[in-house]
Formats: sequence, C-alpha cells, structure tokens
Amino acid sequence: MASNQSEEYSVELVATGNELIYGRIVDTNSSWLAGRIWEEGGQVSRITLVGDSKPLISDVLLNSLNRHPKMLIVTGGLGPTFDDITAETVAETLGRKLTVDYGALEALKRKFEVMAKERGINSEITPQRRKMACIVEGATPIPNPVGLAVGMMIPASSSIVVLPGVPKEMMKMFDESIAPVIRDSTPFVTRARSLRVWMRGYAGLSPMVEEIMKRHGGSFLKTYAGDIDGERGMRVDVIVRGASDNTCTDTIAAITEDLDKKLADIGGKLVRHQP
Ligand code: ATP
Repeated sequence: MASNQSEEYSVELVATGNELIYGRIVDTNSSWLAGRIWEEGGQVSRITLVGDSKPLISDVLLNSLNRHPKMLIVTGGLGPTFDDITAETVAETLGRKLTVDYGALEALKRKFEVMAKERGINSEITPQRRKMACIVEGATPIPNPVGLAVGMMIPASSSIVVLPGVPKEMMKMFDESIAPVIRDSTPFVTRARSLRVWMRGYAGLSPMVEEIMKRHGGSFLKTYAGDIDGERGMRVDVIVRGASDNTCTDTIAAITEDLDKKLADIGGKLVRHQP
C-alpha cells in the first residue's frame, strides 16, 4: 500500500449490476462511497457503472488500472447466484487464480449453521455458497460482519478492493477495513455543508460564487439551479478540502459569512443553514 502522504490519494469506483444498467435501482453505493472517501482525504476521480458481463467488467478494470489510481473499489456481484461474477472476473483480468480463504469459509459455515438453527434452512456449503468464501490469489480477505460474502483487497498496480453490493454490508466493510487505509495515506480531509440562498433572480449568484471560491483556496461551491423552491431559495453546497477538520470547519464558516454579507448587499439572504 502506497503511503506517501505528499501525494494525492486518487480513487476510482466501479459499481456492477444489471439492475443498475437497466435503471431499476439508483447507484447509492457509489455516491455514499464517494462522500466517505472525500471525507477521509481521498480524491474520487471517476465512477463507472457496468452490467453483469465479464468482458465489460474486465474492460472497465483494465481501463481504470491504466490510469493508475491509488485505489480501485468495485462493488456488487459477490453473491452465490449465476450473475455474481465479480471475483472471477477480477481474477481472470489480473491473470490470477481464485482460491478459497479458509478463514472466510469457516465464518461462512458458522453463519449457515446459525441460519439453519434459526430459520431451518439447509446449512450445506454448496459450490455456489463456497464462492462467497473465495478471494483472488494474493488478496487480503475483508471480513463481512453483516452478510455472507467475503470482500478482498488485492495488491496490484493499484490496490483493488472488492466489496458486496448490499449497501449495509458494503458500508460496514468500508468503514472498518478501507477507510483507515485511505485516512493513513493522505494528510487531507474534506468537509461539506448544504446552504440555501434566496435572491431576486439568480443571475448574480454565479459571479458571487466564483469570487468566493477564488478568495478561499481549496473550496468548491456547487449551485443547484434545479433545486430552487420559492422562499426556501436555491441549494448551494460548500465543499472544502484542507489539513484538518478544524481548518475545513473554519473555512466553511468564513465562506458562509462571506456569502451572507454579499447576499445582504443585494437584498438576498441565506434562508436556512443546513448542517
Ligand atoms: P448478494 O449476496 O445479494 O448477491 P452481491 O454482492 O452479489 O450480494 P448484488 O447481487 O449485486 O450484490 O446486490 C445485492 C443487493 O444490493 C441488491 O438488492 C441490489 O439492488 C443492491 N445493490 C447492488 N449494487 C448496488 C448499488 N450500487 N447501489 C445500491 N444498491 C445496490
């Protein structure tokens, strides 16, 4: 794991699943991960969605690896069903074998024994179920305290992390096993705050925002023209990257004050400060 703290820690995300490609569900995993990665100091540079197809997933992985992000996180497709092909595809793409992790297999057996007692299901570890204890050769297993499938971190030209698609499993595994790796590899953090701005006509907002961003280095203000709601005004997010939680909080407070003053000058106002 690279830990040169002077470098930016770039991360690419890949969400797999036909349900995403068919537009049946929204990829909340990637937006949650992106928010957490920025908080921990990483920089998310790209998010890709791809269906459950080996050649397409492999193509996405190779393209990402060619850009040399520090970390590549893939979610989804670790379950026991026919369309769960992520581990296999990652192994084939890297030219490595898929092997059973015996710690993960023991954990899986124990979970099925508990389910057998509680719900009367068959506890046999079928070949399909065994898939959920397999990792790519050379990978470190990432325990899954919430569900069944083991995750993995594979050392390659980028650290490749594979996590299940089930949101509550993915979140817990990221927070416990991946967030500390990112945190320890970068001296930065990112903090954000949502505000609402009201003014008579919003044409003057863009130059105001541009000026504020120039004045406060490391800040990014996003205005949401699609989210204007009468007296509640327009949503504006303030995103700040800095050396510590305190630095970011101070900069966000200074930006909020700045914006408040500028709006007051033209008869506008900050409507509601959302934390
Ligand atoms: P499983 O053991 O359930 O097969 P898995 O790792 O194979 O887990 P998927 O089959 O891809 O994951 O998805 C499991 C569940 O998580 C589904 O309900 C799916 O809709 C949801 N899910 C998968 N990917 C995402 C995503 N990117 N954003 C939000 N929900 C997702």
